[in-house]
Amino acid sequence: MNKIDNKRKQINDIVSVVKLTSLLFSGMGFYNFIFNKYKINISNFNYTLTIDVILFGVLVLTLVYSIWAFSTTKKFNEKYVARIQIIENYSFVLIFFVIVFLTGAHKSEFKFLFLFIIITTTIQSGIKQGVIIACISSIIVLIVDLVYGPYSGENIYFEKDLIMAGVFILTAWPLGFYVKTESDHIKKLESLANEDGLTEVYNHRYFHEALREKVTSYEKDNKPISLIFIDIDHFKNYNDLYGHQKGDEVLKIIGLLLKNNVRDGDVAARYGGEEFAIILPDTSEEDGIKIAENIRCKIEETHFDGEENQPKGKLTASIGISTFPDKAKSDVELIKSADDALYRAKFFNKNRVETYHSILDELKEDIEDRHIDLVTSIKTLISVINAKDRYTYGHVERVVIYSRLLADKLKLSEEDKKKLIYGAYMHDIGKINISKEILIKKMPLTKEQWEILKQHPENGVEIIKPVESLKNISPLILHHHERYDGKGYPGNLKGENIPYLARALTVVDSFDAMTSNRPYSKVKTYDEAMGELKKCSGTQFDPSIANAFIEVIKENKDNINY
Ligand code: GH3
Ligand code: MG
Ligand code: MG
Repeated sequence: MNKIDNKRKQINDIVSVVKLTSLLFSGMGFYNFIFNKYKINISNFNYTLTIDVILFGVLVLTLVYSIWAFSTTKKFNEKYVARIQIIENYSFVLIFFVIVFLTGAHKSEFKFLFLFIIITTTIQSGIKQGVIIACISSIIVLIVDLVYGPYSGENIYFEKDLIMAGVFILTAWPLGFYVKTESDHIKKLESLANEDGLTEVYNHRYFHEALREKVTSYEKDNKPISLIFIDIDHFKNYNDLYGHQKGDEVLKIIGLLLKNNVRDGDVAARYGGEEFAIILPDTSEEDGIKIAENIRCKIEETHFDGEENQPKGKLTASIGISTFPDKAKSDVELIKSADDALYRAKFFNKNRVETYHSILDELKEDIEDRHIDLVTSIKTLISVINAKDRYTYGHVERVVIYSRLLADKLKLSEEDKKKLIYGAYMHDIGKINISKEILIKKMPLTKEQWEILKQHPENGVEIIKPVESLKNISPLILHHHERYDGKGYPGNLKGENIPYLARALTVVDSFDAMTSNRPYSKVKTYDEAMGELKKCSGTQFDPSIANAFIEVIKENKDNINY
């Protein structure tokens, strides 16, 4: 609970105490009536009176308890709470009317009771409800005077109570005004605390809070939540050309665009520098994609100053989407998977919407239940490796994407395609024990370090060994560093002796190593890397597979970002 909510709760507690006190006064009024009616004094209690007193006590206590319980729980939604409050306020007016009536109507000394409900209503429900209750109370008091007051001569009660009616209204009105100013102030503070100063959408902190809260409540109702991640394409380029101030203007426009294109209840937020996120409650992946695509189009269609100098002549954004609970089981997983999907969108040439595909979920379908936990830990291992080696971040994801494309090109059977993809997913798992120093070392490795690195295929096989259903993936992991000419490791296998799928994995893995940012070598362009594949055909790579992969890259030239 934040500080503002805390303050609201404190105010509600005070209001409840005031209401309780007013009930106590009402109780006094009631006893006053009983004592007068039975003409008794404290010394001669009788039996029926005792029962009356007890019954009334129980009634008051029940009321007290229910008001207290209501004010201290927040189980109802706001609309419901407002309605209950109105009913509660009118019930109080009724109780006070009865007490005034019982204690002498126009002569009653308990007319002041109405002040309690006027004050509490104004504080809780604002100036309008406060003034309405004040008017009703005044009318009741004055009508009682007219009906029960003396018919002839001067009606002094009416005259006095006119002043009281004035006090009622004069209490509600300025107090209501003060409450309104205060609540406007609180709202302003709230927006300052929750909004991003530049873009006016919600900020990072609020985003996390809202997502956590939504996931917790939707988990119970079994309803979906989709999450969209948006990252502006080539924004560094824009900043470099026009400066950060111009860049900030773009962020502002995009913030406004998001605000105007989400539905009530959606939460659009600035996640970080030039990244935005939108929480879409009660939205399936299918509907989420439509919303994301609409936003992508709107950004593409919007004119931004100087966008003609962006790489594609337009300022665009890439979008990733994931859905709870189908694709992710917690808020953390939802963020991670939407981020992965965004990564795919960037990879496939940017300015597009991509959903999250979990290889692990595919894998789970093929694996006996008793091994699911182990497969989940494999996923953890892969994230640990990714975290250790920031240069290979995304490597696994890219190798999997390439493998899918290559499998289709090689016309692999469904079973072999799966094997290749799973192999691609897990090929580096044996690196888990290798220290960060070796993995990201810039200088050439020493002989000992090289020996350690070379063990990773065998270590990988050891890790997945307990999972019976992954048995047929072992050869891919074990042999993905063999060379076609027999000079690879660990088995020095040559040509066709290397399993076919392992040869395919070698091509894909090496291509990504060449084209991504490695600590020890310069990044190659896709054209240079294709040249290298050709050059090493027959020595390092299986020539027919290398050829097929070059064709895959050429065919997807427009789809892959390079
Ligand atoms: P990509 O297409 O891969 O997203 O390329 P990119 O250049 O957009 O790279 P990235 O997403 O890593 O964006 C980082 C850049 O965003 C760096 C910085 O120039 C810019 N940026 C981040 N925060 C702000 C900000 O608050 N204001 C401005 N003007 N620019 C920002
Ligand atoms: Mg970014
Ligand atoms: Mg960017």
